[in-house]
Amino acid sequence: MRMHPMSPTLSSVSIPDLEEIIALRHHLHRHPELSGLEYETSHTLQNFLQRYQPDEIVSALGGTGFAAIFHGKESSAGPTVLFRAELDALPIVEQNELPYTSLQKGVSHKCGHDGHMATLAGLASMLHHHPLAKGRVVLLFQPAEETGAGAWAVLHTPAFQKIAIEHVFALHNMPGLLMGQVLVRPEIFAAASVGLQVKLYGKESHAAEPENGVNPGEGMSELIQAFNALVRDQQRFQDLTLLTVVHARLGEVAFGTNPGFAMVMATLRAFEQEDLNQLKSLALEAVKLVSLKYGLRYDFEWLEEFPATRNSAEAVECIEQAAQYLRMDIKQAAQPVRWSEDFGHLTNRYSGALFGLGSGTNQPQLHHADYDFPDELIPVGAALFYRIAESILNP
Ligand SMILES: [Zn+2]
Ligand SMILES: [Zn+2]
Repeated sequence: MRMHPMSPTLSSVSIPDLEEIIALRHHLHRHPELSGLEYETSHTLQNFLQRYQPDEIVSALGGTGFAAIFHGKESSAGPTVLFRAELDALPIVEQNELPYTSLQKGVSHKCGHDGHMATLAGLASMLHHHPLAKGRVVLLFQPAEETGAGAWAVLHTPAFQKIAIEHVFALHNMPGLLMGQVLVRPEIFAAASVGLQVKLYGKESHAAEPENGVNPGEGMSELIQAFNALVRDQQRFQDLTLLTVVHARLGEVAFGTNPGFAMVMATLRAFEQEDLNQLKSLALEAVKLVSLKYGLRYDFEWLEEFPATRNSAEAVECIEQAAQYLRMDIKQAAQPVRWSEDFGHLTNRYSGALFGLGSGTNQPQLHHADYDFPDELIPVGAALFYRIAESILNP
């Protein structure tokens, strides 16, 4: 068994009320809420954080989001560093038997966002008990990460723009990595992705008279094959580029009807934005060709768009130095992670970075029905965030 670097021995600064913060995570886990509907979660956190006397709370950021701001003990002048956690859970039925199993039917924290929120609460506790001298630390609790809508909505809220952020950081727990290991990567950390929904319209008729209708079935199946073919030849792209057909539907469940409607949905994904743009136009070309060939009308919609998360070299160096200071294990990611993160909207706007924090090699993967964020990561993540803030605000 390998020994992992673990808090609270990590740092001279620790979380005095860690037990309460762990209880907070269990409460959040028990009461998960879907993207954009995180009213209770936001309310619970705002109440909980009162005990740490933040200098400001800015609420209604992009809907249910809010920011708790801690000023330096001597002065709020100086750099402003933001740390982000996500408020939302997923539409997944929890399969764990826990003392704090989700009470919300069909909704659960399977991305570990409950742990990310608790980590920021831990950071709030550290900032309250050991305030930094100068500058400001902003703890952003962001809604709707899973649908890609939250970060964008927060960025476009005037109250958020007034905060005048300079540096942004976020972590994501990563099952499959050693517990407490820090995964970093300059440049692209997480892939860009977008959902494509295509509707094909023909003409309904009686199933006994198919010649009087236009059935989009053949067009639909040809479109699925054409979509899959687009990414078979990876040579045409700069880096890994994926298209996954995620849903398809033809007509209604009725033996008497020759259908006149079909729908195909796919997720397009790439490490490079240019590749994604190219794949988007190739996909639309395929839709046009198939529609023309089978005499169908079509429309399409792009949904849940996530930019690639691009890290600044400076921010990655800052994370590495903080991790070294805390004697944590650091791993360089050779490839970006394949999933997408709307934190990319923040790193597009401000200097910053997203990094991974290992949640153990024997863990179920993210979004699996039996995943649960390990509590022992809370002080680890909080200590790392605290050290990052300290190194920027009080160098
Ligand atoms: Zn997720
Ligand atoms: Zn997540």
